[in-house]
Amino acid sequence: MDCIFCKIAAGETPADIIHTDEEVIAFRDINPQAPVHVVIIPGEHIATLAELPEEKAMLVGHMVDVANRLARSEGISESGYRVVINCGQQGGQLVQHLHMHLLGGRQMAGSLG
Ligand code: AMP
Ligand code: ZN
Repeated sequence: MDCIFCKIAAGETPADIIHTDEEVIAFRDINPQAPVHVVIIPGEHIATLAELPEEKAMLVGHMVDVANRLARSEGISESGYRVVINCGQQGGQLVQHLHMHLLGGRQMAGSLG
């Protein structure tokens, strides 16, 4: 499958990986929008949040837990941060592999877009 995030998960494309476990991988965004910008993905290819099967909803809970832990290790837990999942075209999703953004280290704008 021609999916950039699957290739990162498989180790076929280099990335600055900062966390891996049985379910997820986290790496620094190649085009960071904040001093801390981490992308958290499931190792399994799920194209969008909308395609997440009900029985796998806990996977997103685990992604949130990893985001919280990385926020602590990146030093932004106290100052605050934002987690974002873009879904589909109007949600602004560019890479068709479910992912969560962890953003912090600067003041986020109040707008949700
Ligand atoms: P989204 O608009 O939610 O689909 O965001 C996709 C994100 O993936 C963007 O912030 C990109 O900068 C990031 N991205 C795309 N390719 C790579 C890559 N090879 N390594 C790290 N981040 C990437
Ligand atoms: Zn994929």
